Amino acid sequence: MSASLIITEIYASVQGESSFAGIPCTFVRLTGCPLRCRWCDTAYGFYGGTEMDFEAILGKVSELGLPLVELTGGEPLAQKNCALLAERLIGNGHRVLIETGGSEDVSVLPEKTHIIMDIKCPGSQMHERNLWTNLDHLKPTDEIKMVLSDRDDFEWALKIAKDHQLMSRFNVLLSPAFGLLQPKDLAEWMVAEKLNARLNLQQHKYIWHPRAKGV
Ligand code: SF4
Repeated sequence: MSASLIITEIYASVQGESSFAGIPCTFVRLTGCPLRCRWCDTAYGFYGGTEMDFEAILGKVSELGLPLVELTGGEPLAQKNCALLAERLIGNGHRVLIETGGSEDVSVLPEKTHIIMDIKCPGSQMHERNLWTNLDHLKPTDEIKMVLSDRDDFEWALKIAKDHQLMSRFNVLLSPAFGLLQPKDLAEWMVAEKLNARLNLQQHKYIWHPRAKGV
């Protein structure tokens, strides 16, 4: 029997975040997440979805015709076959990104997967779910994203970055939680602290309506 996954949606858009921001990308959104971040903007992906076998998923991705593919969620790694799909997509010649919340083991992924992993700050109310051993499995080219709700989250992120030397080991993205922290405030704090990190705005929320799905 062919492997399958529960899928919320597959669509083409531009990548909204990370060092790939602005590049056309196919998104494969896997259903379900074990976390409940306070500011989550994809709660519609927690339940439901459609079971799709790999042939149907790969067929849809191929039909959309973009070299760049992101596996996202929900939490994509909460479904065991996610790593196998990454492998198949890489085998088909795609550049594969995965956006993961950081509570699941990333070491199951193929080496060529580009990992964008959250470290959850206290403002998310999910910071106790960070799986810190994941830091040992990331490559220097991978990216760490921290979504900040306020100045307290910023101070916490600075401490974590220092304790784990994140800014010299990985690409670090700092994102303002949409509607909770003004991008201008975060930009000014980052400059004042002379951080070797990238301000990460969710481009799709500025291009389309902030609550639009499938973009
Ligand atoms: S890990 Fe992602 S999908 Fe899950 S609750 Fe947090 S923001 Fe939402």
